[in-house]
Amino acid sequence: MFNKKGHLLEKAFLELYPNRSFNYTPIIQYSGRFRDYGGHIVLAFNTLTVKLSRKWYGISDEIQVGFIQELMLKLWPIKSKQVNTLYLDLYHSFVKNLHKAIPKNRTHPILESSFNRINERYFLGLAERPNLMWSNATRVFGTYDYKSDIITISKMLLNAEPVLLDYVMYHELLHKQRKFIRSGTKTIYHDKKFKRLEKVFENQEEMEHKLQKLSLLNYKQRMGNSNVVLATKPKSKSKSKTSFFSGLIESIKNL
Ligand SMILES: [Zn+2]
Repeated sequence: MFNKKGHLLEKAFLELYPNRSFNYTPIIQYSGRFRDYGGHIVLAFNTLTVKLSRKWYGISDEIQVGFIQELMLKLWPIKSKQVNTLYLDLYHSFVKNLHKAIPKNRTHPILESSFNRINERYFLGLAERPNLMWSNATRVFGTYDYKSDIITISKMLLNAEPVLLDYVMYHELLHKQRKFIRSGTKTIYHDKKFKRLEKVFENQEEMEHKLQKLSLLNYKQRMGNSNVVLATKPKSKSKSKTSFFSGLIESIKNL
């Protein structure tokens, strides 16, 4: 489907950047090559192309405009909070509710046991199980994808103490439970309340420390060099202690 919805790009642009003029040839393409509800934006010469996952086809124009604006903000960031976020808000509300419609057909016994332990202990048994998958990631221990409702856990944790797997599962489930908050055009995942809740996990600091050690061990094994030492991360001056997760450990999928 080419260009038919190209006008959505202009609409998205002018709502977001009311003081600029839209001088591009707009193209929207729907493609099966993206993950669910994903997409990307490319500006080449004067042609602005947005490619969207086929899942977007049939979703209301307003919500698509919100997603297109999210992509545009990567291309042309805005610092000001004084921006009309009506469509962005619609899109984010859509993303927050997507999990309800997503089939939960991916799981693994070890991951499911971990989910059950965490659900029982920290979520009163009320958490909805997301899709659960192992990954071969070496840079992050866990991810949560809002658009497919999948928690992915790195196989680095397969043979580690089960409590470490549980801690990462807890962190990712907090993402699923709490979603995210918006500040202007920014999306915040690890807000203060998130960090407070993260500390509820028994011996949380020890878990962070153990994950750091495990990460280093894996790094050494991959490099085949036991003399490697990780450079100490500079401490943040103004902020409280940054969770290990917020830096090295995690990527959140929401685009
Ligand atoms: Zn996180």
